[in-house]
Amino acid sequence: MMGPRPVVLSGPSGAGKSTLVKRLMQEYADVFGFSVSHTTRNPRAGEVDGKDYHFVCREEMEKGILADEFIEHAEFSGNLYGTSKKAVEVIRDHNQICILDLDIQGVRSMKRTTLNPLYLSIHPPSIEALEERLRGRKTESEESIQKRLAAARADLEISKEPGIFDAVIINDDLDEAYNKLKDVLSEEIQKVQASKKN
Ligand code: ADP
Ligand code: 5GP
Repeated sequence: MMGPRPVVLSGPSGAGKSTLVKRLMQEYADVFGFSVSHTTRNPRAGEVDGKDYHFVCREEMEKGILADEFIEHAEFSGNLYGTSKKAVEVIRDHNQICILDLDIQGVRSMKRTTLNPLYLSIHPPSIEALEERLRGRKTESEESIQKRLAAARADLEISKEPGIFDAVIINDDLDEAYNKLKDVLSEEIQKVQASKKN
């Protein structure tokens, strides 16, 4: 069984993807399931293992990749990140819309699979606003902020390529961005809600 169409959220680190996903999961707990990725980076204050990410060491992650346990994986800012087959299957088994938070390499890899997700890019209003958010989050070292800003500049260029994203949402005012996100997803949300009533 195919299950509902998954949704990929991409865009620069610090643009507000996690904030938007958390709101969506709160409002529609039954409808969405977040694909919990694996990463070799250290947990940030407040992040929960198994909920935000599966935090693993590089050796364990590389073993999993070799054992073909991942749909996609990428190196971002000196750490490995990846989506396990299991993370996505669990959500499909619950007939929920699978939300994936992926960097641009993950987007490209996902396009080679049969999952056929909707691809959304979340943008900050400007690089300056992004830097302010990354600093304001107080989770990154100066080196990590600089790496993320460099990746962000590249991301914002790539997302201009025609056909790569189905929609770009600018997260300036959070409520406006959230409403736009709900708007883009409304058809899929309604389908899942209707199927759960039957
Ligand atoms: P990402 O998941 O894309 O890395 P986060 O969701 O962690 O980004 O957001 C980065 C920081 O910016 C967080 O501290 C978050 O509270 C803040 N933030 C998110 N959206 C907005 C917004 N619209 N305006 C101001 N700050 C925001
Ligand atoms: P962060 O460390 O800020 O949580 O994430 C850094 C980057 O990794 C973000 O761009 C995020 O979208 C991306 N990312 C998170 N999980 C995955 C994943 O499973 N695969 C890929 N390719 N990228 C991911």
